[in-house]
Amino acid sequence: MFNLILFGPPGCGKGTQSDKLVAKYGLVHLSTGNLLRQEIKDKTPLGLEAKSFIDKGQLVPDEVVIGMVDSYFDQHKEAKGFLFDGFPRTVAQAKALDKLLELKKTEIGKVLMLNVDEEELIKRLVLRGKTSGRSDDADENVQRNRQAVYKKETLPVAEYYTKLKKVGTVDGMGDIQEIFERLSAQIDKKVK
Ligand code: AMP
Repeated sequence: MFNLILFGPPGCGKGTQSDKLVAKYGLVHLSTGNLLRQEIKDKTPLGLEAKSFIDKGQLVPDEVVIGMVDSYFDQHKEAKGFLFDGFPRTVAQAKALDKLLELKKTEIGKVLMLNVDEEELIKRLVLRGKTSGRSDDADENVQRNRQAVYKKETLPVAEYYTKLKKVGTVDGMGDIQEIFERLSAQIDKKVK
C-alpha cells in the first residue's frame, strides 16, 4: 500500500493535481473538503455543522473530520493506497491519521508539498471564486483568513512529517502538466 499526502496552502493546486495523480497511480482520492461539501449538499447534520466553519474560512473541528476519514476507510477496504488532499490540516489530525493507518498495517509513504507564491495563490482563488460556486471562494477576506489559518494551524503538520523525513517539496508555479511531472518524478522514486 502506498499512501501519499499532497500538502500546501489553499489554491496551490492540490485538487487539480490530485485528480491527475489518482488516475496515474490508482490511488483512492480522499479530499476532506470534497467530503464536507457533499455533506452540505445532502443537508446532513454533519454538513450543517461544518458549513458554519467553512463559510468563515475556519477549520472544521478535528473530531468531525477524523470521524469522517475513519468511515471513508471503512468504505474503501480494498484500496491499494490513498491520496490525502486537504487532510491532515492539524497536528492532531496527523497523529490520528498515523494511528488509523497503523491499524491498517500501513503508513504515510510520502508528503509532497506544493510551493506557490502567496500573491499567486490569492490570484488563483479570486479566479476560481468566479466559477467554483464555493461559498468560501467568493470572498477575498475569507480567502485571506484561510491563508492565515493555513500558516498557523496547518504548517506545523509539515514540521511533524519533516521530523519523520517524509517531506519532499515541489515547485507549484507554472504549467499544470509540468507540475504534474515534477510530482510524478518524486513519487516514482518511492514506488519503483
Ligand atoms: P478544501 O476544499 O480542502 O480547501 O477545504 C475547504 C474547507 O473545508 C476548509 O477551508 C475547511 O473549512 C474545511 N476543511 C477541509 N478539510 C479540512 C480538514 N482536514 N480539517 C478541518 N477543516 C477542513
